[in-house]
Order: sequence, then C-alpha cells, then structure tokens
Amino acid sequence: MPAFNWWDPAWPAGMEKTLNPDVTPRMRGVVEKCNFCHGRWHAAKQRAAAEGKPDTEPVQYLPACAEACPTKAIQFGDLNDPASAPAVAARNGNSFRMLEKLNTDPKIYYRSKREWVRQIANAPHPADTRKENLRG
Ligand code: SF4
Repeated sequence: MPAFNWWDPAWPAGMEKTLNPDVTPRMRGVVEKCNFCHGRWHAAKQRAAAEGKPDTEPVQYLPACAEACPTKAIQFGDLNDPASAPAVAARNGNSFRMLEKLNTDPKIYYRSKREWVRQIANAPHPADTRKENLRG
C-alpha cells in the first residue's frame, strides 16, 4: 500500500535548503502529481514578458525531468509542430497513449517495443473484466 506523504516530513538538518523555491511543498496528505513544471513555465513566461514578447506566443521551457534525463528518454515539446522531436516520436509505431479508447486525447505518449505493453495501456480495468466475467 502506498504510504506517500501521510506524515509531516522530517528533513535531515540542512536538507530543507535543497527544496525548490519555485515549488510549494504540499501539506500532509496531498499527493504530488506532475504539473509539467508549472513553476518553470511561469518563469519562462515572465522572461518572455520582460523581453517584450507578445503574450500570445507560446513560451519555450523545458521541464526538469526532460532536462535532467541523460539519455533524452523524456522529450517535451509542441505536438502541433509536426517537425518537433516529440511529434516525430509520437508518430513512431511503438508509441502509445494510456486509455486512448476513452477519447480524452491525452498528450503524453509512451513508447515500448513490446506489443503486450502497448496492449495493456488500453486494456480494461481488471475489476471491469471481473464484472464482465461474472455477467457472462
Ligand atoms: S520534473 Fe517532470 S515529472 Fe516532475 S513536475 Fe516537472 S515535468 Fe512533471
């Protein structure tokens, strides 16, 4: 059973200095979720405004995980630009999205050479399968 963030953090002395000043630590019980480095996006937007760029232009920034990944396994960019690296990667035959059948048009693509991995991304929830089996 996951036990993340159920207690107030006990930082070893000095460790609190490593917290990212652009990210607000959540209160106990709140599970963190990827927000595509919203703080970095804000900072990029402020830089663009300071440079006099119009507010309508998309801002250029890189999420921390994409910047830190040494193998560039994580790519980030504009899927609407067919020439961008993420758009090219998304068109790769090994790319897939989670639960694409729900038609929510998720913007995150994963990649696997293994067919079973791609299939399981669109598989029904095990509980749903059990209900179907019980019915029929
Ligand atoms: S580092 Fe990556 S996973 Fe974490 S919030 Fe930024 S984009 Fe999301």
